[in-house]
Amino acid sequence: MEYSHRYPAYLTQQVAAELERHIDIHRQAYNYTRYQYENVDADNIGSAYKHHYRLPDWKDQFPVFSEVNSKALQRTVTRFYDNLSTLKEQKENGRKVGNLKWKSPREFQSMTYSQSGFELKNTSGRHATLWLSKIGDLKIRYHRNIPDEADIKEVTIKKETTGEWFVSFGLETDEADLPEKPDVDSLDTSNSVGVDLGIQNYIHTSDGKTVDWLDLEDEYERLRREQRELSRKEKASNNYEKQRREVAKVNRHIRRKVLDYQHKITTWLVREYDAVFVEDLDVKGMLEQSHNARNKQDAAWRQFITLLEYKAELYGTHVVQVEAAGTTKECAKCGVATAKPIWVREHSCPSCGFETDRDANAAMNVLQRGFQELGLGWPENTPAETALPTDTPNFQRVSAKRVVETGSLGA
Ligand SMILES: [Zn+2]
Repeated sequence: MEYSHRYPAYLTQQVAAELERHIDIHRQAYNYTRYQYENVDADNIGSAYKHHYRLPDWKDQFPVFSEVNSKALQRTVTRFYDNLSTLKEQKENGRKVGNLKWKSPREFQSMTYSQSGFELKNTSGRHATLWLSKIGDLKIRYHRNIPDEADIKEVTIKKETTGEWFVSFGLETDEADLPEKPDVDSLDTSNSVGVDLGIQNYIHTSDGKTVDWLDLEDEYERLRREQRELSRKEKASNNYEKQRREVAKVNRHIRRKVLDYQHKITTWLVREYDAVFVEDLDVKGMLEQSHNARNKQDAAWRQFITLLEYKAELYGTHVVQVEAAGTTKECAKCGVATAKPIWVREHSCPSCGFETDRDANAAMNVLQRGFQELGLGWPENTPAETALPTDTPNFQRVSAKRVVETGSLGA
């Protein structure tokens, strides 16, 4: 299984300048690969593999190519051929595409070390050190562990248009090293959970835990401010361009914060439970969201489920998506459906009298559907019987702040 982890890097001016110099050499290598591909009529061109054999000649001709890591240089040649196949694919799918273009410095902001020439060190704390051959040490904020059994296949160092630097590790874990998922027959309501991806709470679990929405008010306030500022600038002016980058920076910051938050919640879920059931969201989105808000939240939810599914493999947890229609309306105890407008926050069953929070009821339905999906039938100890009303002291509310700041739910 392949996946990746990305970390912010904090560089001294000296290291940053050296990285920029290297990336620019890689840019020239990329452009030279393109030049040879288009202009040199030779047999030993046409695939990344063949093209790699030309690198010793390059180095004789242009000594600057010897100044960068040679595996990384190969990787840049490969990058050209990767782009070529992407282009070819698009063409085959009927899209109108041109040829691969020459890259200006603005368009080429990263390089990749492949297989060797790097080492990740001092990973015990919140910071770690990445050593790169021909560059030296750089400090990264190590907010998420790389699993012990994962192989680091490659490392990409990238400078964003905002000027921030990031390091991204391409990881691979052997199928054989992945933990086995627990036996389906061992699942019960104590080690399984239904999750409602909610409107009021970020998630609500069938055993009565909630995690609040991430508080992004300050960030959105800042975004509005920067956008207002942008609307006052003259289009296509230097100031406009500068301000546009500020807006992009805030947007990126928000996206990163959401992703980080989702990482923490999903890791907590797969560690805490043997089976996690979630709703298939396309349907739910159509049922409950207004049009505009929907797209944005759908995207966030899809990302959440993607993370959850890949972590399920890493941690050996069952993750199953279940039919979403009716999870809110149906009573988790007796199954009778009652119409429930979105502003009604309580579930109060007119048929059996069962009362709980609206999202808790939905989460319990998700759990029950998950059990049926796995062929386990109705959970023996139905969650409705053990569920606690939201106003009892046992009802656990996990604040978003706690998740993010102390990482108490695990990172
Ligand atoms: Zn009922």
